[in-house]
Amino acid sequence: MVLKIDVIACLSDNYAYLLRDEESGAAVVFDAPEAAPILDAVAASGGRLDALLLTHHHGDHIEGAAEIVGRTGAELIGAAADAHRLPPLGRAVTDGESFAVGPLGLRGMATPGHTRGHIVYYAPAARALFSGDTLFSLGCGRLFEGSAEDMWDSLLRLAALPPETFIYPGHEYTASNGRFALSVDPDNAALAERLAEVEALRAAGRPTVPVTLKRELLTNPFLRAGDPRLAGRLGLAGRPAVEAFAELRRRKDTFR
Ligand code: ZN
Ligand code: FE
Repeated sequence: MVLKIDVIACLSDNYAYLLRDEESGAAVVFDAPEAAPILDAVAASGGRLDALLLTHHHGDHIEGAAEIVGRTGAELIGAAADAHRLPPLGRAVTDGESFAVGPLGLRGMATPGHTRGHIVYYAPAARALFSGDTLFSLGCGRLFEGSAEDMWDSLLRLAALPPETFIYPGHEYTASNGRFALSVDPDNAALAERLAEVEALRAAGRPTVPVTLKRELLTNPFLRAGDPRLAGRLGLAGRPAVEAFAELRRRKDTFR
């Protein structure tokens, strides 16, 4: 396999991703914020789309699904837990389930928190995690349906993936996430370095993703809630990491 991943900018700040094996031509897309840019990307890479994989039911992730499926014949794949509120699925994936689209091996990981049925997709051969609205660069999704405990558990499972894994999140939120991260973790040199890079990328009109998990573990406050120094800054020294996580999420919700 010769794997290639295209970042497809959609709407104002969403991303979809096209993962393709250049040898076999097999191709899948992750999330469907809108049809046109995704169909353009598919057409530009040969016109074949085997499957469209959805991370969760929010409109900015599924809006283009029906049209993309209609135009390409792609199989629609999503979380079994969300089958009742997603467009009709050809395959419903459960937590930990490994499956293949042609030669492309994938694993679903349920990550409740942002929504109850949120699922992310890990592609080991591509060293890629398509993390939807669970894990962003320097941030994490808002808790719309799940508790802080749910989201913290989900993030811990993602944090245990190989550190060289590239994270492909559902939104370009890195710059604003970074301002919050700096406010709670001002002495973090790796964060300062990442923010300088993010600023340069955005100034050049380029995406700030993908980013490695290794780098996120050093810079993303929501993955670092177990760090004693960060907990101390929050006034939660010695408390369980999930409490620091919940406090970070609360503060981020009102941060300007
Ligand atoms: Zn969402
Ligand atoms: Fe979203």
